[in-house]
This record gives sequence, structure tokens and C-alpha cells, in this order.
Amino acid sequence: MASDPHGPLLQVSGLAAAYGRVRALEEVSLEVAQGALVALIGANGAGKTTLLRTLSGVQPAAAGAIRLDGADITRARPRERVRAGLAQVPEGRQVFGPLSVEDNLRLGGILRDAASSERILERVWALFPVLREKRRLTAGMLSGGQQQMVAIGRALMTQPRLLLLDEPSMGLAPKLVAEVFATIRRLREEGTSVLLVEQNAHAALSIADHAYVLETGRIVMQGPGRELAGNAQVREAYLGM
Ligand code: ATP
Repeated sequence: MASDPHGPLLQVSGLAAAYGRVRALEEVSLEVAQGALVALIGANGAGKTTLLRTLSGVQPAAAGAIRLDGADITRARPRERVRAGLAQVPEGRQVFGPLSVEDNLRLGGILRDAASSERILERVWALFPVLREKRRLTAGMLSGGQQQMVAIGRALMTQPRLLLLDEPSMGLAPKLVAEVFATIRRLREEGTSVLLVEQNAHAALSIADHAYVLETGRIVMQGPGRELAGNAQVREAYLGM
């Protein structure tokens, strides 16, 4: 299908997903515009991870459609989706602990040719200078915040057009949370579109162009990040105010 330069980068319509008889997503429709940072917030078990897994193709869609730059990828295999420009940073980072930092990153670039891998690796080192310093250490020896950098860097090695981030702030000290969010903002400024799943609603809404609220598998609210952050219902349910 032809790509429309004015259409959204990601268009999800009527998406459903299930684990056996348990419906985890129902009628989910959302968009990520080219170059946008979109946040998806919701409580534990709302279906946030399931949505990302369905987008990246690890979990099948039970209904609905996923379009990336106009192309229907609803039934595409995960590897094809990576080639098309989707990269997921999984919840809990899931770096390869026994491998070096550099090998973790190089694995991310395995679908790219050697020359472009080197170029992107330089970009990752520039984004995370501490990883260059620690490139020969095994990733399992790094702090949680640095492992999160490895996980983000590994996804960037695929040269994604859309980065899917699953709870990047989980388990990090407040100072590191601020660093991770600064990095996400910088990625967007450099042109990578981002779909950010977060329980840290306050931080997510403060940087998001647009945000969606997911409750028991359905989108119940959406709007510009700042607008949602000021919404009374959102403040009470997700911001503890
Ligand atoms: P969390 O913030 O805890 O990661 P979430 O919003 O990402 O939550 P999901 O993990 O997507 O939510 O879960 C959505 C629903 O699907 C929940 O009811 C959950 O219990 C169920 N679920 C998730 N994974 C499985 C699975 N492998 N088998 C069965 N049910 C599952």
C-alpha cells in the first residue's frame, strides 16, 4: 500500500487481543502522528503490555487492524515489523546479562547491514556516553538505569521509525527516571516517533504530545498530554491528586 506523507505513522483501529477466553483488548483505536510522542497510561492489568505485544506481533490480533505508514501489518511477522520500522523496548528491559554491552547493542542491529550498524552504534554512544565507557562490561553488571539505556539503544540499532517503550521508568530511582524521560524527549527531538506505555502517568503526560487512557482493555479517554494532566478524573485516578 502506498505511504501517505500526511497520514499517521501508526494507525490502530478496532484492535482486540485475547489470552484464551480472557479478552485483554477490545475495540482499541489510536494513532501516532509522524514525529509525535504519544503516551498510553493505565493501571496494572489494563492491557498496556498486551497492546505493545500486539503491535510488535508477539501477540496475535483477534480483531481490528494495524497500519504502519499506511501499510497493513496486522498479520505480519515480528521480524517483518522490525524491518518496517517498529521496535519494542520490553518491560523489565530484558538485556542479555552475560553478553557485553556492545554485543547487546550489535544484536539489535543484526537485521541491518554492517555499515549502517556502525553508524547507528555511533549515534547510540553519543546518546549514552556511559555505555561507550562500559561497552566491554557484561550488561548484567550495570545498574537498572544503565540497563534501560542498553535496552533503548538495542532497539535504536534497528533504526526504528516508531519506538514502543514499555514502562521504561519501572524500578528506577527518581533521578534515573528523570534521565530516562530526558532521553525519550531527545529521541523525539531527533525525529523518532515514540509510543510510551507508563504507569508513571505524571512523567508521561508531561512530555507527551498526545495521550490515551486504557482501562480494562478499552481506551476511555484521550487528549493532548497537558490537557489530560489537568483533567479531574485523570488526576484522581492516575496522578493521586
Ligand atoms: P502491567 O502494568 O501490570 O504490566 P498491563 O496494563 O500491561 O499491566 P497486561 O499485562 O497487558 O496489562 O494485561 C492485560 C490483561 O491480560 C490482564 O487481565 C492480565 O491478567 C491478562 N494477561 C496478561 N498476560 C497474560 C497471559 N500470558 N495469560 C493470560 N492472561 C494474561
